[in-house]
Amino acid sequence: MYKKRFWNEDVETMSVDDLCNLQRKRLQEAIEWAHEKTSYYRDLFDRSGLKPEDISSPGDLVKIPFTSDIETADDVPLRDRIAVPAEKIRMYHSTSGTVGAVVPIPFTQKDMEAFLQEGEARARWTMGVRPWDVVQVLTRFDCCSLGYRELGSASVLMSAGRYNTDHQIHLTQEAGVTVIEHMPSFLLSYFERMEELGIKVGSTKLRMASGVGEGWAESYKKKVESRFGMPFMTLYGAVEISPFFASECEARNGMHINADQGILEVVDPETGKPLPEGEEGEIVVTLFQREAMPLIRYRVGDMGSIMPYEPCPCGRTSPKISYVKGRVSQRINISGRNILPIDVEEIVARFDELENEFRIVCEKPEMDILRLRVEYKDDVKALKDLKEKIEEALFDELGLSSEVDLAPRGSLERVTFKAQRVERLYS
Ligand SMILES: [Zn+2]
Repeated sequence: MYKKRFWNEDVETMSVDDLCNLQRKRLQEAIEWAHEKTSYYRDLFDRSGLKPEDISSPGDLVKIPFTSDIETADDVPLRDRIAVPAEKIRMYHSTSGTVGAVVPIPFTQKDMEAFLQEGEARARWTMGVRPWDVVQVLTRFDCCSLGYRELGSASVLMSAGRYNTDHQIHLTQEAGVTVIEHMPSFLLSYFERMEELGIKVGSTKLRMASGVGEGWAESYKKKVESRFGMPFMTLYGAVEISPFFASECEARNGMHINADQGILEVVDPETGKPLPEGEEGEIVVTLFQREAMPLIRYRVGDMGSIMPYEPCPCGRTSPKISYVKGRVSQRINISGRNILPIDVEEIVARFDELENEFRIVCEKPEMDILRLRVEYKDDVKALKDLKEKIEEALFDELGLSSEVDLAPRGSLERVTFKAQRVERLYS
């Protein structure tokens, strides 16, 4: 039996006092680095009348204005944010272009070692991946393999199978894949395709599914777990912060933050006011030891909450965040209330008569009722009853009146990256 419980025991089980001291020291260094090496942060501090020494602990962060999503901050040239000469950059990844233009994200050798090797290996170990695992990453995030290599497990390369789903499925089986990673919204259809091809998921060596890149309804996770007999583990991150900033442990209740690598705050998306533990708001991250592109009070644009602190049964002492539910920009105003597509997904996922594909149709920025177009399975006949049941569930669970439009399977356009749940008919 493998005895090692933690990937980096010193850091993961550090006392809360020691962690606070480490965060304070690393925060001061990060602020000095960003201020000295980038015109972007120097200007930001000057405009706010701040000096680096004004920020000596995480509690001082509120003095610094937020920095916004780099995809939409087109008034800031990237070179103003970069803190190292070009020859020190070893790799670029990019943002996904979810809300604006795709932006290159530079990494130095040290950045790669800290965030893509140590950060990833630790996050994967927390989820339960071990050196004897064979992992297959289907998310198209090709930065997601350095940590697996660091950890010692074997990776089936993303380009193996040449991005053809049936070929990838063949490889899942033939290479003896034990851990599969996909965009959550595509995982179910991957497994369903396996079964269409006559491959029973339970007859393969698969033992764990992992999701990254988007939030996913708890109801879908439960479906994967009960139908295919494996835990669905979640990671949280973004390329510009760290793709592996938080990860779920065996306690299956929230995700441990790599708190030695940065500070995660949650703020009210409208007022910017910091929110207390347990309250949902926008995630804001300040990174430590990020050489190439420092990030301070960066609004990631995702919605989540810091969980009230309590010792975790797994033995890790790092704070935890809730599962991330979506992006601030995905919120929809219906009858004066803000909802996220995942709130609707949670209900759609409970109906076995429905496919996984749906759209919330928005004709204007503020809607009176929820308009939902959702695909039903081929063998469903009692459509009127089904429509009523869904509308009733939406009212009971979300308190929203709705108009559900049931569409035959295949009516809605399939997307090949992140799930698209909202169709906006206005500009
Ligand atoms: Zn834990």
